[in-house]
Amino acid sequence: MTERTLSIIKPDATRRNLTGKINSMLEGAGLRIVAQRRLSLTGVQAEKFYEVHRDRPFFGELCEFMTSGPVVVQVLEGNGAIALNRRVMGATNPADAEPGTIRRELAISLTENSVHGSDGPETAAIEISFFFAEVDIPG
Ligand code: GDP
Repeated sequence: MTERTLSIIKPDATRRNLTGKINSMLEGAGLRIVAQRRLSLTGVQAEKFYEVHRDRPFFGELCEFMTSGPVVVQVLEGNGAIALNRRVMGATNPADAEPGTIRRELAISLTENSVHGSDGPETAAIEISFFFAEVDIPG
């Protein structure tokens, strides 16, 4: 089934000039980048985006990191795109991620783990609409 998911290339990766490399890994796995924009998140936006983690001990550190530099937000499309992107990303902690995944190959730490990807259809819809209107997704 063709699906869409939201991906974010995080500040640790944009800082190290890894946008193209990550896009190449996504495309190599069969995902299509059907919309993409580079921007700097405000503190308010980061807190809203990660609202579900508000009570977790790492929330402050996470929001500080996500506002430490530009991010690239993108809509990925493909067959089973949500799960496929999660596989290409690898486990949240790069130390646990499989070889060949983005996080294993490129991430710095549990916080600075290079990419975000929606974890299910409902979150994907909410997260895509957080950054993109339908007219901004040319396909
Ligand atoms: P994801 O879906 O794999 O990105 O993981 P989560 O939704 O659980 O967490 C969101 C983000 O918060 C992760 O990608 C990490 O950047 C960060 N994070 C998650 N768990 C921890 C943790 O235990 N400690 C720290 N410092 N950061 C964490």
